[in-house]
Amino acid sequence: MIPYGRQDIREEDIAAVTEVLRSDMITQGPVVPRFEQAVAGQVAAAHAVAVNSATSALHLACLALGVGPGETVWTSANTFVASANCARYCGAAVDFVDVEPATGNISIPALEAKLAQAARVGVIPRVLIPVHFAGQPVDMPRIAALAEEYGFSVIEDASHAIGAQYQGEAVGSCRYSDITVFSFHPVKIITSGEGGMAVTNDATLAAHMARLRSHGITRDSKLMDRLPDGPWYYQQIELGFNYRMTDLQAALGLSQLQRLAAYIKRRCTLADKYEQSLADLPCRPLLRDAAAQSAWHLYVIRLDDPGRRREVFEALRARGVGVNVHYIPVPSQPDFAQLGFDMHDYPGARDYYAAAISLPLFPALSDAEQDEVVHHLREVLT
Ligand SMILES: *Cc1c(COP(=O)(O)O)cnc(C)c1O
Repeated sequence: MIPYGRQDIREEDIAAVTEVLRSDMITQGPVVPRFEQAVAGQVAAAHAVAVNSATSALHLACLALGVGPGETVWTSANTFVASANCARYCGAAVDFVDVEPATGNISIPALEAKLAQAARVGVIPRVLIPVHFAGQPVDMPRIAALAEEYGFSVIEDASHAIGAQYQGEAVGSCRYSDITVFSFHPVKIITSGEGGMAVTNDATLAAHMARLRSHGITRDSKLMDRLPDGPWYYQQIELGFNYRMTDLQAALGLSQLQRLAAYIKRRCTLADKYEQSLADLPCRPLLRDAAAQSAWHLYVIRLDDPGRRREVFEALRARGVGVNVHYIPVPSQPDFAQLGFDMHDYPGARDYYAAAISLPLFPALSDAEQDEVVHHLREVLT
């Protein structure tokens, strides 16, 4: 089976991890801050906080921005459940904004309408979490203007989008957001096994997330309510977690980061090839935003006849093509539906979901394998 996504592990990755295994510190050693600095440098953000997953990074980002009981967080209806669960971990409410069926990204008109309605009843969200779906950046300048107008904070869920650009600027620069979150799960653009990172230009937010990642403990005497008992002293000044990344993970992530540009280039080449090869078939690629350079985490096609989606999916799987579907709309999940969400409120997400299939796309996918995928899709569709 050709999978829809797969990590690319090279000898230099193995050597980097092995070196840490032979060192004194295998977690919280010198490599985590090196990986943090490298990612911050890559995306031109001032600060980075590495954690054990993007889910943890989203949780800490919400807490640092004051999300708690009585607050609401909004995210896209077309995303992985983690983008919504982070609000619930904080005891906050979550709500969803509909998406543009042609891109799978949050719909700016739907967001504008929902904000206008929210302003009328006086319940502006504390935080909006736009998701750069499939690696194509959302129109962040527009979101930043709305954040300014209505007074909410913004966390970019860039789990799909390290290496992507908008108007020539790297996703993660945080020019239009408070915090950006990346995932290093093996199917994502680069991997650390499990892992995530939050980047920000705000030193206070960064320090707060770094403290929360390790139990809310500080050794900074300025933050303590009394003088230290001695040089061993630390204080837990709030409730935090163990969300630390290990040096083993950081070494893998740092080694992979060296190949980020090559990975994006290969993903772009494969995406362009799919677009050309499938042009005459009864399906469409996602619409590209001319201002965006996608990281191409996913290659999604939408069938002209959504009624055939299941049959096409099953036929491709039977032929060894590991297609997938991204995503089942989050408000339709039972654990969200029981909170009162109704899919009739998300016509864009329903329309998008009904027709979507993700084709295999990863840097090590060979030209021959891609030809095979195209061949099978052509046979199944025509
Ligand atoms: C993968 C993913 C996450 C969660 O990432 P983990 O590192 O697995 O916790 C969050 N949001 C989106 C959009 C994702 O694709």
